[in-house]
Amino acid sequence: MTTATCPECDADVVIPADAMENELISCAECGAELEIISLNPVELDLAPEVEEDWGE
Ligand SMILES: [Zn+2]
Repeated sequence: MTTATCPECDADVVIPADAMENELISCAECGAELEIISLNPVELDLAPEVEEDWGE
C-alpha cells in the first residue's frame, strides 16, 4: 500500500493502486482536496480551489 503525507495536516494519505498523476483525492483526516502531482515518488499538493460559478 502506498501512502503519502497530506500537505495540509501531515496525516498519511493512502494512494489508490490505480491512482494516476493529476488525480484528485481527498485526505481522510482533514478532508482537503489533494492532487497527485507525481507517482514515483508520490507527491501530493493541495488541489487548487475551484469555485462553482457556472451560469453566472
Ligand atoms: Zn489532511
